[in-house]
Amino acid sequence: MTKRRNFIRQTIGLGASLPLLGSLIRQMALSHSGNGVIPTIMCSRGRGWGEKVLLPAWQKYQETGSILDAVETGSNVVELDPEDTSVGYGGLPNELGVVQLDASIMYGPTHNCGSVASLEKIKTPCSVARLVMERTDHVMLVGPGALAFAKMHGFREENLLTDRARRIWLRWKENLSSNDDYLPPEDGNYGLKKRPGGTINVLGVDANGDIAGITTTSGLFGKIPGRIGDSPIIGAGLYLDNEVGAAGGTGRGEEVIRTCASFLVIEKMRSGMTPQKACEAAIKRIIDINGGLDRVDFNDKMVAISKDGEVGCASIMGSKDGPPEACYINESGIHVKAGRYYKEWS
Ligand code: ASP
Repeated sequence: MTKRRNFIRQTIGLGASLPLLGSLIRQMALSHSGNGVIPTIMCSRGRGWGEKVLLPAWQKYQETGSILDAVETGSNVVELDPEDTSVGYGGLPNELGVVQLDASIMYGPTHNCGSVASLEKIKTPCSVARLVMERTDHVMLVGPGALAFAKMHGFREENLLTDRARRIWLRWKENLSSNDDYLPPEDGNYGLKKRPGGTINVLGVDANGDIAGITTTSGLFGKIPGRIGDSPIIGAGLYLDNEVGAAGGTGRGEEVIRTCASFLVIEKMRSGMTPQKACEAAIKRIIDINGGLDRVDFNDKMVAISKDGEVGCASIMGSKDGPPEACYINESGIHVKAGRYYKEWS
């Protein structure tokens, strides 16, 4: 009880609105599992992201009792943020300057899933993926078909290319080759050394031990138009099993596809590994199929949550501040999970 009180105090301290008495009572019921499950929502980003992504997700869970609504709410925050250049609105575009989004969703109790790939002009692709799951008997819609489906459900077509993303893309294009007709401006020769990616996985388990997960991204910056990454591929950028847990991947998607990395994490957990060890096993698999760390010049990161709320996080490279991080929220508040990276443990 004290813990829950602290959490409530903490959420209020973080600027959240005061929940009504009814929802407080509900909150306590939702935090009480009595079955060893600790309701938890995690995301693949570290410090600072708990407040931004997980707090609204947690509040949604308290209001509705739905872990699926919760992970969608958290993912929508990032999708709708124009400052985030790797997910949804404001995401960096493909080679031709067109933003093409990938997203997937999966729900444990039904083992059902939905995804969209190369979706243009819609700010919240994970919500379209949810409708593919719930309102069709298909799993995946791509490109113009996905857009038509979204519009059918009332989504509005919008320009996803922010000025900031357009400028980054233009400068990248101008610096791509000295043998084309584009010239960078004279104010510097800014070219990106590495093409940035970025994605978010939001995974959650509720008081009944039921699981939901989302992966959403604008994919690899400057990709060939139509390129689809791991994020909308079930088993690659996202997978879950209601008896085991959920896993998601970020980073170079081709490698995550080649190893079915999220599926691999879940199968490792099924055979007894902790989420941490299972994420490390998938990262090691990516390195092994490439012939060792010396041949790897990209990064991948796997995160996972078990059915009882334990989280894991592993990557190939560390972040500039050290180990990779994820964060999670439960009844005792927001926590940062320090993961491990291959160089450190190998
Ligand atoms: N996994 C994403 C993709 O390959 C990009 C990223 O997470 O950096 O599309």
